Amino acid sequence: MKRYKLTMRDIPAIERLSGMLLNQPELAGFSREVVVERLRTVVSDVRTQIRQEQDVDVSAEGLAAKVKEQLGTLGSSSLRKAVNATGVVLHTNLGRAPLGKRAIQLVNEVMEGYSTLEYNVATGERGSRYEHVVDKLCTLTGAQDAIIVNNNAAAVLLVLSALAKEREVIVSRGQLVEIGGSFRIPDVLAQSGARLVEVGATNKTHLKDFERAITERTALILKVHTSNYRIVGFTAQPEDKALAALAHQHGIPLVEDLGSGVLCRLQGNGWQEPTVRECLAAGMDLVTFSGDKLLGAGQAGIIAGKRQYIEKMKSHPLLRALRIDKLSLAAVEGTLLDYLLEAGKNVPVQRMLNRQPEELKELAHQLAGRLQPLTACGWRVDVVSLVSQAGGGTLPEIDFTSFGVSIVTPHHSAAMLESVLRKNEVPIIVRIQCGKILLDVRCLAPEDMAIIETACTRIAKGVLS
Ligand SMILES: *Cc1c(COP(=O)(O)O)cnc(C)c1O
Repeated sequence: MKRYKLTMRDIPAIERLSGMLLNQPELAGFSREVVVERLRTVVSDVRTQIRQEQDVDVSAEGLAAKVKEQLGTLGSSSLRKAVNATGVVLHTNLGRAPLGKRAIQLVNEVMEGYSTLEYNVATGERGSRYEHVVDKLCTLTGAQDAIIVNNNAAAVLLVLSALAKEREVIVSRGQLVEIGGSFRIPDVLAQSGARLVEVGATNKTHLKDFERAITERTALILKVHTSNYRIVGFTAQPEDKALAALAHQHGIPLVEDLGSGVLCRLQGNGWQEPTVRECLAAGMDLVTFSGDKLLGAGQAGIIAGKRQYIEKMKSHPLLRALRIDKLSLAAVEGTLLDYLLEAGKNVPVQRMLNRQPEELKELAHQLAGRLQPLTACGWRVDVVSLVSQAGGGTLPEIDFTSFGVSIVTPHHSAAMLESVLRKNEVPIIVRIQCGKILLDVRCLAPEDMAIIETACTRIAKGVLS
């Protein structure tokens, strides 16, 4: 059969299409401009397709449906809840740390109305947004003073800009880290106007390497926590105490970019990261860390340490550009309260990382139980033991024993099922291993079980496919 060749004349007139669309009750909330603008985009795409001699639906109904579909996406939130069934607690792409109850309550309060953000209630005068968390941070870390900005990358940039601009910063070659592709120590250093002086070798750096590199141009020594990798084998780095003594002998500060900010050690967990308090006690003059890694709050960067240096940040012009917003600040303060009042036991990140195998196994059996009816549709659902990671570039060498459910279905390949779950109304993010879908229960909230059950039931019954 010879195919009819489409021309521009086959496209219905814009007036006719807009007349059709503007009468649709479900589009009533959109302004005329938005509807017509979207219609023009759709028609322009169709013109391009016709020029490329592609087969395309040019019926008025088809074009109207396309516009409606696009407006449907435009009119719903793209940023939304997802179910994390990957087992990775600090999944950077899934928003890192879920907040605890106190933090959520404080964020809500601050979000809904006015707050004391920069108002000093005692004096009735202007206050500082940075003051709200200082006493809490100092109590939890033993620091003299602290300041908070919008993330740890900003914290490092601020420290280097305030203390090392046009001067030299000494860093061990084994610590020139890259975090998530967009944060590289050499690049951040260059951005701050400081000059990098690399010392030592990738695997070994000695105290004398630092000693030799110190000149009158040296601003500070920077230690970077190798958050997302470990150098193992024939390795050496000087002890913090020795490095601090060397720095102080030359009148320069020792700064650590700690990455994850662990505030206290929980009982019974199988992992150890240096706490902020330990780093400061070992002689660090300043420590910078993230609010939304192991600390478990919202996105923030915290600088804690000696007052004389923190003062320099407070008056630095960059501070305004890097300042934390009130919602993130509320998330951090609420979480700090969790650490002060309950030793962090109810911070979700801490709770998830410390979930014991028996509890995880029980949860996996609960999930498998909910999916059991689907075996009648030919699904295979098994409880399996898994290994999960902390994520977010933290605790790279620690394997967490976990439990979950593996699924094999008669009508979907693992890749197809993964895609359908991902495109669920509430996206469900899973892992694939050896041709099976794996749902790790470590990061599931109680309501997530029902979301998974509903989605899988609809898929099995062919409502979604
Ligand atoms: C994660 C990390 C950063 C970046 O922190 P953000 O809060 O994501 O900006 C910087 N340095 C180290 C060592 C890190 O681990």
